[in-house]
This record gives sequence, structure tokens and C-alpha cells, in this order.
Amino acid sequence: ASMRKARIKRTKTVCTFCGVGCSFEVWTKDREILKIQTDTEAPVNGISTCVKGKWGWDFVNSEERLTKPLIRKGNEFVESTWEEALDLIAHNLWKIKQEHGPNSIGYIASSKCSNEENYLFQKFARAVMGTNNVDNCSRYCQSPATAGLLRTVGYGGDSGTMEDLIKTELIIVIGANPAESHPVLATRIKRQHKLHGQKLIVADLRENELAQRANLHIHPKPSTDLIWISAVTKYILDQGWEDKEFLKNRVSGLEDYITSLEKFTLEYAEEKTGLNQEVLIQLAEMIHEAKSACILWAMGVTQHKGATDTSTAISNLLLITGNYGRPGTGAYPLRGHNNVQGACDFGTMPAWMPGYEPVQDPEVRAKYEKAWGVKIPEEPGLDNHHMVEGMDKGKLKALYLFGEDMSLVDANSNHVDSAFERLEFFVVQDIFFSKTAQFADVVLPAAPSLEKDGTFTNTERRIQRFHKVLEPLGESKPDWEIFQELANRLGANWNYKHPSEIMAEAASLAKLFSGVSYDRLEGWNSQVWPVLKDGSSTPLLYENRFALPEGKARLVAVDWTPPFVSGEEYDLHLNNGRLLEHFHEGNMTYHNEGLTHKVPHPWLEVSLELAKERNLEDGTLVRLTSPYGQVKVRTMVTDRVKGNELYLTMNTREDIEAVNRLTSSYHDLVTHTPAYKEAGVKMEVLEFK
Ligand code: SF4
Repeated sequence: ASMRKARIKRTKTVCTFCGVGCSFEVWTKDREILKIQTDTEAPVNGISTCVKGKWGWDFVNSEERLTKPLIRKGNEFVESTWEEALDLIAHNLWKIKQEHGPNSIGYIASSKCSNEENYLFQKFARAVMGTNNVDNCSRYCQSPATAGLLRTVGYGGDSGTMEDLIKTELIIVIGANPAESHPVLATRIKRQHKLHGQKLIVADLRENELAQRANLHIHPKPSTDLIWISAVTKYILDQGWEDKEFLKNRVSGLEDYITSLEKFTLEYAEEKTGLNQEVLIQLAEMIHEAKSACILWAMGVTQHKGATDTSTAISNLLLITGNYGRPGTGAYPLRGHNNVQGACDFGTMPAWMPGYEPVQDPEVRAKYEKAWGVKIPEEPGLDNHHMVEGMDKGKLKALYLFGEDMSLVDANSNHVDSAFERLEFFVVQDIFFSKTAQFADVVLPAAPSLEKDGTFTNTERRIQRFHKVLEPLGESKPDWEIFQELANRLGANWNYKHPSEIMAEAASLAKLFSGVSYDRLEGWNSQVWPVLKDGSSTPLLYENRFALPEGKARLVAVDWTPPFVSGEEYDLHLNNGRLLEHFHEGNMTYHNEGLTHKVPHPWLEVSLELAKERNLEDGTLVRLTSPYGQVKVRTMVTDRVKGNELYLTMNTREDIEAVNRLTSSYHDLVTHTPAYKEAGVKMEVLEFK
């Protein structure tokens, strides 16, 4: 027994299944995962995890893992050596750059991968390949929230930590489903609400678990959040309930903002949102009565044509009521992926260098040019949306993508697939042969978080260290090592021996991370950005100043953008999102036996009313059709959705078509985040159960 015990290894890691950022130890014997052990010292979760964190790790030993590079030969993929695959990639990228210029190649980063890997990837795009065409999947989710916050308060991140969400008197959740998408955070909110009288308001089309528990659940008409938020803000101002001191000392733009609110009367809001005036007044009163309030939001807000403006309206409401800069206040866009915050923070964005320093600023470029010994292009690059359009028009010739199944997660995926077909050269780097990989010319086998070292940044800006638990399976490699080998084939002279050296470089260049170091992230230690040179964190932003010129926040006037409507024949509104047991598109979790046993495939939630009208039961097979594609799926009848509103989970197994065959290419007007939540469909019954 003692021999056996000696072979058991305990290694600290950080969960990769959502932006909450739970940490725990993984107990292993060789490649066998014995258990997940939580610890009271874990800064975010203590002794809690959800079902994915506890049971979601078998995928690392799946027989379907990619273990060797693959090269397309005609219609086949053939295993190759690393030498051959990397030589081929270097040769083709170099050739395409020579022939069509550096901006003819696009680079899509991964919010599942580490800060160091994202830093290195944008360095590869900018310093080695000479383009700012680099983006990550926040373009599909939280870019509008980032843009709304950058406009009004200055930092594109949560303004406090999860501790503030526990301290606050009132939590408002808009278009988010934390009980399934951010479970450990939701558990803490549930506890505070139930045991300590914290007030909870939920605005959502679907009666999700938090909505069921809330003091007030409102169900506005789809895509009308900006209207009720602005009407409530106007009512607060009309009553003289605004925080006058705060507005006088810390905020600019009040007069113009008040003028912009004129049209948002209670009558107008009632007509457009379907919420009656008493409810709108009740909302205003609850916010007024609370000494502190936090607003949480996610894709239900950000995946619309007017998403940046709705995020701005949320921030405006917080400013009017003085709910920034004190414990228990602030804006909390909930990050979906484990490292979507970090991917943005570390510069995989077409207009931003690491730490949100603008690439158009000559001083910023000069700093990096000196450090890297290269010229950095001045113009912002293409974002994901423009890359797809560029491919479609034949202008973008090559794409390098890692850790992202774009063929499943980008909107209007039939269009995306046909754009992939036009590429001259396509590299996909992943842990499984994804739907996107079938379009690739070279597929590189990467290693998941358990097989490498690095850091992730969770939704509250907390940087945490994860450690290598296992050796990479087969010939797979950590993503950062692959970038380095490729960069050196293309004339760079990189010599990073460990991700800590990459972080040291990033910290020496980006002010936001000045004091971040692996030494300071030992054990359960973590750091919350901005991190000062002495290593100290900033859990609560805006205590004394906002991160805008003169330190003042800005009220920004916004107007409502009506949603995209597919046409009358598409008579059902299709909402979509996650579910507890599967992460995002399901690439990792459907390769997990336990989770897949529990939830083997996606389903379509239909209302009691619709079920009665169309004779639907649990398990009826239906076909949904939109102007962009079709999906076959089985129904589940539930009172969580109402009337003609449907809900389809975005997770899917490889053999079942996903929701994005149905969504359109319409997008947020500012950030180009797809309007995933503005889909109309029609339904036909294929087979009764
Ligand atoms: Fe992982 Fe999120 Fe669950 Fe925590 S709440 S265990 S980070 S999926």
C-alpha cells in the first residue's frame, strides 16, 4: 500500500470550464485521475466545485485525442512528424506573406489557453508575421461589454471581485444564467440570497434557476433590455434619487445624458418591452433602496445588434446611482471561457497590445518595437468577423487558429464553412479533431491545461497559476512550444524555457501586470490586475479614480437598435446558451464519459403553450429552419420558456448539427459580436416519439 501511495501525485490546477476560476488539486497515479481535492485556501471556490470541475477531466485520456501532426493529402489526413508539419507551415505562411502581404493572413487565438500562450501568439502575429490581424473568441461573447465599460469607466473587466457580489445588498442579473454557466458563483449568490436577505433581480427570457429564486424576475420582449434599463434610469433621475455627490465629483457628461433619456418614458418602455409600468417603478425603487448594487450580465445582453449600447446603458445606470468604487458595487460582465479575460488582457485583439494599450499609440508601439526589435504595424487588424468576410471574398488567404472550434461557435456557420473552403492555407491546432479541423491543411496536436504550466485570468481579473499534472499525450505539445518552434523557423530567435519567462516579459512591458510573477503566484496565491510593481493587487477598481482622462467616469448617451428580424414565416424566436454539464461547444466535455452519460445530446426547450398548439412532447423530433440553415433536434416541454420562444443549448456532439447552422451574420454594430440571440426559425415535426 505504501508503494502505491508513493506513486500518487497531487498537483494544483485551475479549472478550464468557466470564467469563475476554481482551483483545486488533481490526484493522479500515472495517467489515471484519481480525484479532485478542494482546499479552503483556494481563493475563489474554497471547498466548492461544480460537476464539470469535479468530474470533467477524463477527456485528457480520450482515445480520440490528437497525438501526431496531420497533413492533408488530397481528401485524406496523413500523420506526419513535427519537423515536416512545422516546415510546411513555415514555408506556406512565408510564401503567402511574400505574395500577398502580411495582412493576407489571420490569427485566431484561444480563450481556453493560457495568458502566456495568448501573449506569445499575438507576438508571433505582430513581431514575426507583421500584422495586427489577431483576435480571440471574446469577439463572440463579451466584446460589447468590454467596449461599453471602456467608454464609461475605463477598464474592460469586472469592477470588483466575487467577494463584492457577496457583500452587496442587491444583485441584478441580466441575460445570464450563472446557475449553469458559472455554477460556483451562483451557489454563493443563492446562499447569500436565501440566508442573508440579499435582494435578487433577474431579467431573462427564460425562467432559469436564479430567476425562479429571485425577488423579482422580469421577462422583457427579446432584444429590448436597453429600453427598460434606460427607462428605470430616467425614472430614478426624475425622482431625484441619483447620487448627486458622486455625479458632481466623479462623472462627466450628465447634462447631455439626461437629454438623451427624454424618450425613455415609462409609457414608451411599457409599449416596447411589454413590462408594465408598475414593474418598472418597482425596479427603480429596489435599486434606490439598496445601499449597494451590482449588475451581472452575459450573452443575453451582448449577442445583439445593439449590444455595446446596452452594456453602456448598464454602466450608465450604475454611475447615476453611485454604484462604482465602493465594496459591493459595480459592473460584472461574466466571462464564459476560463481565460477569455486573459486572452484579451494579453493582447490577442486587433486594436490592443497587452494590457489594453492601443496599437495606434506611437509610444506603445515604440516600447514594443524596442523590446522585440521589429516594426509593428500601426493600423488595427481584422477581427474575427472581418476575417471571415475576408476569406469569403478571397482576400484573406491563410488562417492560423488554435483552441477554437469556429465551425461550431461562430454564427451562421454554413457561411463560415464555405469561407474556410476558400483559404489557400489553413492551420488548426487543437486537442481533438474538431469540426473546424476538417477544413485544415495541417492539424497540430496541442496539450490541454493538465499537461502544461501557465496562468489563467478569471472573470474577476484574478491571475492564477496552474501546474503540469501529466506529460503531454503522445507527441502533443503545449501551444506555446509550438509557437516558439514555428517562430524560430521564420527567423525569430526565441528561447523561452518555461512560461514563467513569457510572463516576465509581458509584465516588463504591460503596465497592467507590472508586478505579476510566478514567484508571487506560488501555491494558492493569486494576483488581481492592475498589479503594481510591488506585487500588490487591485481587487476593487475605481475607488479613487476612473481609468479615463482626468480620472472621471463618462455618461454616454445611447439609443435602442431594433433587433434583426428574419421574416414573418420564421415565427419562433430562438434563444440559445449553455447547460450545466457541458462546456461551451462541448469539444472537451462530450469526450467525457460521465458527463455524456448524464446529458448525451442537446435538446430544444419548448413552452407548454407551443407544445399544446403543435402536439409536441418530450422527445418529439423536429426540424428548425432559418434563412441560413437547418437543425434536427428533439424537444423538451418546459415552463422555463414561454409562448413562441425556444431555447436550444449551444453544446453539441460531433454528429448533431449545432445551433449556429441557424444564426445569422448580423452583429453588434460596434464590436461585430454576432447577434446570436436574434434568430427567427420555423419548426416542422418530423417524428412523434
Ligand atoms: Fe470549473 Fe466553473 Fe465549475 Fe468552478 S464553477 S468548477 S471554474 S466550471
